[in-house]
Amino acid sequence: MNTNTQTLSRLRNLGIIAHIDAGKTTLTERLLWKTGEIHRVGEVHDGNATTDFSAIERERGITIGAAAVHAQWAPRDLPLHQLTLIDTPGHIDFAIEVERSLRVLDGAVAVFSAVDGVQPQSETVWRQARRHGVPLIAFVNKMDRIGASFERVLEQLQDKLRARPWALGMPLGSEGDFHGWVDLVDGRVLHWQDGGAATVTAWSDAERAQWQPQRNALVEAVADHDDVLATAWLEGRDIDAAMLRAAIRRATLAGAGVPVLAGAAFKDKGIETLLDAVVDYLPSPLDRPAVTAESEGGDVLLPPDPDGPLAGLLFKITHQQHGALSFVRLYSGTLKVGDNVASSQHPQGRRISRLVRVQADQTQDIGQAVAGDIVAVLGWKDAVSGETLSGRGQPLLLESIQAQAPVLAWR
Ligand code: GDP
Repeated sequence: MNTNTQTLSRLRNLGIIAHIDAGKTTLTERLLWKTGEIHRVGEVHDGNATTDFSAIERERGITIGAAAVHAQWAPRDLPLHQLTLIDTPGHIDFAIEVERSLRVLDGAVAVFSAVDGVQPQSETVWRQARRHGVPLIAFVNKMDRIGASFERVLEQLQDKLRARPWALGMPLGSEGDFHGWVDLVDGRVLHWQDGGAATVTAWSDAERAQWQPQRNALVEAVADHDDVLATAWLEGRDIDAAMLRAAIRRATLAGAGVPVLAGAAFKDKGIETLLDAVVDYLPSPLDRPAVTAESEGGDVLLPPDPDGPLAGLLFKITHQQHGALSFVRLYSGTLKVGDNVASSQHPQGRRISRLVRVQADQTQDIGQAVAGDIVAVLGWKDAVSGETLSGRGQPLLLESIQAQAPVLAWR
C-alpha cells in the first residue's frame, strides 16, 4: 500500500441522518467532544472524568452548524483515522441540499429514537441514501428514555425500511436502568456509568454460555452475505473478532445489511462504540465507486487519485467571521494554495488563496488537499453551490455526477 492509498484508507467522510428530535445535534456534539479529547490531549479518555459538557462547549465554541467538521479517532490498537462529519439537512424542503450532501459523503450514521422508532423523515432520507448507494450504520439513541425499545427499532428497520439490521450487540437494561452493552463482535461487556466512564470486561464462561447463541446468530446472518465468513463457519473454524468484523465490513459496503448499535447520546453512552463502528464499517473514499465527469471529449471516469485530473464539487457555502467558506469535495487530483483552477461558473477561473479544514473549535490552514478530502476555500465572494472546480485547460463538469455501481437493492 503506498502512502496515498494508506492515507485514503484511513479517511471517513460521513453524514448523520435523522428525523428531527432523534438526537442528531446531541450526538454530533458528543462525537466531536470525544474525538476532541484525543485531538488535543493526545490520549484516550481515562474514563473517570465527569464532564460538564455545556461549560466546555461554551468555552470552546464547538462548531455544530458547520457544513463539514474534521475530527480524528483511533479504535482499539488501530492508527488514527481522519473523520469528516458532513452536515446533512434532515428536511425534505432542502431536497437539492440533501441530494448534494448525499453525493459528497461516503457513508452515513442513521440515528433513531428508541422511543419513536422509524419516523417519516428518516424514512425519506434513508431511501435517498440507499438510492445513492451510501452504506449505512444505525444508532438507536435515547435508550435511557421511558418506553425505549431496541427490539422494536430493529423490527421497524426490517418492516418499514426493508433493511437487514445486524445488531452488533445487546443493550443492558433500559430506561432509567440502561447501563451497558453486550458486544457480540468482540465478546465483551461494556458497563457505562453516568458521565461516560466505561468498564470493559471479556465474557466470563457463564456469559459466553449465555450470549454465544446470539453471537452465532449474527455470524450466520452475515455469513449469508459473505463467502469468506460462510466458508470458515461451515468448516467449523473459530470465528474471532477480526474475522467477523472484516466480514461485516465487506457485507455492509456491498449494501447487504446495516450494523446497528444502541446508546444514549445525552448520557454519553455508546459514543465510543459508535466511533469505532464508523471506522470499522463505513467506507473510505477508496471503497466508493469512481465518479463520472463530463468533459469536452465525453464522459471520464475518476477514481480517487491524487495524481489524476483535478475535479472537485463545491457543495456548500457558509459565512463566518473570516469571510465566505466554500466547502469542496475533491474527487480527483490535488488542490494547492496558490493554484489557479477552472470553474464551471466562473469563466476567468479561480485562485486558491487559502485552504482550511474546519475543526470543532478552530479553523486550520492547510497547504493542499487531495482526492477524497473535504476542505473549505476561504474568501470567494461569488461562489455557488453545485460548481465544479477542475484543472485549467481540462474543464470537467460534476453536476451530473452519478455513482457507477447500480443502486443497491435490499432483497
Ligand atoms: P435533533 O433534532 O435530532 O438534532 O435532536 P437534539 O439533539 O436536539 O435532541 C432532541 C431532544 O432530545 C433534546 O432535548 C435532547 O436533550 C434530547 N436527547 C438527545 N439525546 C438523548 C438521549 O440519549 N437521551 C435522552 N433522554 N434525551 C436525549
